[in-house]
Amino acid sequence: GQCVTHCPVGALREKDDIGKVLAALNDPETITVVQVAPAVRTAWGEDLGMPGDVATEKRLASVLRHIGFDYVFDTNFSADLTIMEEGNEFIERLKNPDKSRLPMFTSCCPGWVRFVKSQYPEFVDNLSTAKSPQQMFGAVVKSYFAKKADIDPSRICSVSIMPCTAKKAEAAYDNMSSAGYGQDVDYVLTTREFARLVRGEAIIPEALPEEDFDSPLGTYSGAGVIFGATGGVMEAALRSAFYLVTGKNPDADAFSAVRGMNPWKEAAFNVGGNEIRTATVHGLGNTRQLLDAIKRGEVKYDFVEVMACPGGCVGGGGQPIRDGQELAKDRAPILYSLDRSKNIRFSHENPDVLKMYEEFFEKPNSPVAHKLLHTDHHAWDM
Ligand code: SF4
Repeated sequence: GQCVTHCPVGALREKDDIGKVLAALNDPETITVVQVAPAVRTAWGEDLGMPGDVATEKRLASVLRHIGFDYVFDTNFSADLTIMEEGNEFIERLKNPDKSRLPMFTSCCPGWVRFVKSQYPEFVDNLSTAKSPQQMFGAVVKSYFAKKADIDPSRICSVSIMPCTAKKAEAAYDNMSSAGYGQDVDYVLTTREFARLVRGEAIIPEALPEEDFDSPLGTYSGAGVIFGATGGVMEAALRSAFYLVTGKNPDADAFSAVRGMNPWKEAAFNVGGNEIRTATVHGLGNTRQLLDAIKRGEVKYDFVEVMACPGGCVGGGGQPIRDGQELAKDRAPILYSLDRSKNIRFSHENPDVLKMYEEFFEKPNSPVAHKLLHTDHHAWDM
């Protein structure tokens, strides 16, 4: 419970990354860039004793700037980018007469990717090759962004604030250095570590004004922000897949059947005359049951979203903890309300993502997109 944040042993265990981030912030030669995952904004105020209407995402941006980050960006931006890559990849697999790579599994949760690699290696080629939003972001920061802002990428320290302890291991994999300047994401702080950093710097968030994230990597659609809740990646991907197949946008809420805390949700949607069968599962026990059912031929899907943590990233292992309380179900509605509040609710309409394709990546799944935004799941061993 609260002890995790106050207990000196916990502090020692997680101290390293905070210390390294502070060193980077204090080094005048280093340009610090931070990204914040969708789920973090639902919970960052909990350990700081702030009510939800004070602990907003705009105040979070302000706190990060106050701590000294040079650029304050949003992982939601690269969640939209993930959908561009993964949505196109899904449509390609769907059209391919060889159906061996269906169902396609989402690949943004490193807890799940480790699980499938170690326990069900026969499904590794069914994973999307799209990197997670965290890793796409890191690769974009040290390539496209550095170029655009005219910064020497070797001076950039790329930090992420994540709901997740598995994201630290993901950022450290040898092959997560595609931009060619060290790791694409240098340090990962959990939501709890971030709260400790704020306290350690004696910042009073309540006293700071609300501010916007920086542009261009701070812009996001409603589809990007729901990534933090179970069913969110699936819903965001379906919104764009529908557009890719039919050339028209669906109603933004057409796929809301994939929402909710039910541990294993099935749905089927008609997308331009194709029936797409989906499953959304969270928690690794439920995932095991689902994979076994696929293996026994009892169920058949085209697209499956898996999140290792109950409720998805809002219930992640790096989020604030209250003894015996399941907080994911209270945090997810914050993301759905941010989605509803957005003028743009489709990843393929994020203007800064589209501009980046125009200026840099050309199109989804292009050779440069493959180099920076996709990964080989066989490149590292458990
Ligand atoms: Fe990390 Fe859990 Fe989210 Fe997976 S579901 S990315 S393990 S917080």
